[in-house]
Amino acid sequence: MIDARDEYLARDRWFGLLHASPRARLASADDLISSMDAAEIDASVAFGFAFADSHLCRLSNDYVLEAAAKWPGRMLPFAVVNPFDGPQAVREAQRCLEAGARGVGELMPEGQGYALDDACMADLMELAATGDVPVMVHVNELVGHSYPGKGSIGPQDAYALACRYPNTRFIFSHWGGGLPFYELMPSARQELANVYYDTAASLFLYDDRIFLEASRWAPDKVLFGTDYPLIGQRRFLRRVQRAGLAPEQLERVLAGNLLRALGGTATGGDR
Ligand SMILES: [Zn+2]
Repeated sequence: MIDARDEYLARDRWFGLLHASPRARLASADDLISSMDAAEIDASVAFGFAFADSHLCRLSNDYVLEAAAKWPGRMLPFAVVNPFDGPQAVREAQRCLEAGARGVGELMPEGQGYALDDACMADLMELAATGDVPVMVHVNELVGHSYPGKGSIGPQDAYALACRYPNTRFIFSHWGGGLPFYELMPSARQELANVYYDTAASLFLYDDRIFLEASRWAPDKVLFGTDYPLIGQRRFLRRVQRAGLAPEQLERVLAGNLLRALGGTATGGDR
């Protein structure tokens, strides 16, 4: 895909929108491993782009699963699928989970052409709940500056999804578009019991006080994520390490919370 970049820019509207600029980086599995080595990161959740076309999702999944097998314990593969495909998406997610995937996602509703409250979501959410694996969903902040690919699916939609599927564990990306604020609201906190938030792309969106504040609001739920190759892992990690978190809080953000989000089992590597 990296070699035939222009072809894929044309084949998927959302991929094209996000990567039209030649400065928008794409990374291979080797690039990711090199980045992890440089940043001293043991293991990364890794997945392909959430294409609308299920054939492209499958290609991406095969690539990530192969990479995970090549570097045991260093990649925690997630499966990209398009829920709009119904039973086909459920079968693909099942296939990947059987082959070692640790979660489903990132789901990109706007790019893939569905809404989070569509009925097509139900079977996939059920599969994840039964398999005890998380579903990662792209969620946008709905205020602030605009940029290519900024969507309009925000914290309200994510919250409704968590309410609708209380037995499914969710990771809402990009701080869930601001949802952690509502962890301070007892009734909402109850509904969000099975929800985690990742920090992916935070450096482009928020100032670094958010790491400390959100860790206070939702101490067991903040997951370090970068959105690599959008942002370098080493640079991002240094920023989080300097954000003023206590050592035990930092440990939770960098590792402990993810282990629980994944279903409480070990990562499979020598950690
Ligand atoms: Zn995202």
